[in-house]
Amino acid sequence: MDAYSVSYTSPSLRGSSRIYQDLAAYRQATRNRIGQKAEQLNMDFLEKLRKPRPSKPPRIGIVGAGISGLRCADVLLQNGFDVTILEGRDRIGGRTHQATLPSGHLVDLGPNWIHGTESNPILDLTKETSTPTHTWEEQVNIFDENGKVLQNGSSLTEAMWGIIVQAFKYSAQNTANIDPKKSLHDFFLEKVQETLPGEENSEQQRKIVMQMAELWGAFVGSPVETQSLKFFWLEECIDGENLFCAGTYKSILALIAKPALEKAKLRLSTKIIKLETKPNAITLTAEDGSESEFDEVVVTSPLGWLKINKPAFHPPLPTRLSQAIDSIGYGSLEKIYITFPRAFWLKDGAKPEDQFTGFTQWLSPIYAPDTNPSKWNQEAVDMATLPIPCAHPTLLFYIFGDQSVSLSTDLAALPSEKEKQAHLTRFFKPYFSKLPYYEEGSKDCLPVACLATNWVADELAGYGSYSTFRTGLQKGDEDIEIMREGLPDQHLWFAGEHVAPFVALGTVTGAYWSGEAVGKRIADAYGMAQVDKDDFNPEEINSNDGSKEVNVRGFADKALEE
Ligand SMILES: Cc1cc2nc3c(=O)[nH]c(=O)nc-3n(C[C@H](O)[C@H](O)[C@H](O)COP(=O)(O)OP(=O)(O)OC[C@H]3O[C@@H](n4cnc5c(N)ncnc54)[C@H](O)[C@@H]3O)c2cc1C
Repeated sequence: MDAYSVSYTSPSLRGSSRIYQDLAAYRQATRNRIGQKAEQLNMDFLEKLRKPRPSKPPRIGIVGAGISGLRCADVLLQNGFDVTILEGRDRIGGRTHQATLPSGHLVDLGPNWIHGTESNPILDLTKETSTPTHTWEEQVNIFDENGKVLQNGSSLTEAMWGIIVQAFKYSAQNTANIDPKKSLHDFFLEKVQETLPGEENSEQQRKIVMQMAELWGAFVGSPVETQSLKFFWLEECIDGENLFCAGTYKSILALIAKPALEKAKLRLSTKIIKLETKPNAITLTAEDGSESEFDEVVVTSPLGWLKINKPAFHPPLPTRLSQAIDSIGYGSLEKIYITFPRAFWLKDGAKPEDQFTGFTQWLSPIYAPDTNPSKWNQEAVDMATLPIPCAHPTLLFYIFGDQSVSLSTDLAALPSEKEKQAHLTRFFKPYFSKLPYYEEGSKDCLPVACLATNWVADELAGYGSYSTFRTGLQKGDEDIEIMREGLPDQHLWFAGEHVAPFVALGTVTGAYWSGEAVGKRIADAYGMAQVDKDDFNPEEINSNDGSKEVNVRGFADKALEE
């Protein structure tokens, strides 16, 4: 997930919440089964998977050195396995990756939020690595379709989030009966009328709320019109705050990777193109033709990769698993960093509440017909107000869906870096030029560098960003569970953000948990699980400060506190 994530389950309701039951069951089922109670709980599961106790460490191949693959390697190494990671890129990290801006500042190209502070292992790693984080005070900077600052932005934003909360409740309570074709957009159309009844002035306000609803697309990487209402509840995130990872994910990634880098065999630039199950082993074939045999293989390739590469599996994937891979959506989200000589939109000495800090949104702009005829909403976060030394005079824009594809195509058609930079400046100028203190012709208001991600064209990222739940989806929860289960009897397991606990799908935390879960399941299957001092405590899930009914990342956090 990116700039936002939502949870509505209040702590008192967690016992009966499907999403928290799933988290408890998921983590309980992946506990190292040393204790008698857990052993009983999982007897059937274990019997089904039990492998003969090996005389030498079983060989495990992990496809992919992203967060899930690295965490899986760590758990397997701790339990005495012989681990090899085969990574298609020439680096580790997968979608968790950084680049350096010309200003010298390191930025995240993939995740830069930590979603939820309640029992989130990524938050623990953030603290362990002293990675600075940040939350912006609630502030609503919104430009209307004419490029004028919205005066009643706060109340309309509240109305918009109110409807989102209602949609979460409605989806969770009525999932079985909701027509799969129904979208979050449909729900908004109904509810905006109830929330803002009346004529004329209200009509205008309803229109603005509908425009604001389009911003949901940046949460999931695809438009609100295709967001499944039936499975909207699967977008819920871990409770607590949402922190911007001001110091980047770099040190967190390094810490997760450390055991694998020290003890596993890591083969970079090794793209796997064929996975063939044999009676007692599984053979992986790399693009260069080399073959490697393993006792078990964990595939962490993104869902978008699996969708396109199902023929790589021999024998073919079972029909139900194949359907599950097809059914779950895969979004596209891109980031564009635009750096200026100085943060011209901030004024020394001005009060924070009078400044354009945190998020700024430009709704359905009609004033950029040449570059944005589709009137795609724009949205940016200001990095100049991050804590020192992380602050730099940069605006980080988020784009998604068709706009991502369009920008990627336009940039690919430009031959030189200079032209690409000019294109990005031209595209985003109608928006940053609306910010306070902008002066046409001033050197301070002219970008010095732009950096755009291109996940949508990245084969090993599955041509997108992360999983999402689209209209038409009939059995979203079951699909995830089917993928999670994998094919242990064929020595094939799946890990990654797309098979995470429901409450962490699409996130770094989810990827981490999924790798851990598969590592522990394999250790169990071989009877090699060791006692783990950090094992899951079910109490964690029920403890919470309970201040918020809804957890929405970033700027809306405070607006939604009860
Ligand atoms: C733009 C963007 C913004 C995001 N924002 C956030 C956020 O703010 N917060 C958050 O929590 N999450 C966010 N996410 C999601 C987060 O990045 C992912 O959930 C997480 O990084 C996924 O980890 P993974 O291990 O599942 O997959 P990956 O990181 O994709 O790792 C899979 C690895 O497998 C490799 N691979 C794939 N196929 C093959 C093959 N055939 N052979 C060999 N190697 C292969 C890939 O190269 C990759 O290294 C964002 C993602 C994107 C793209």
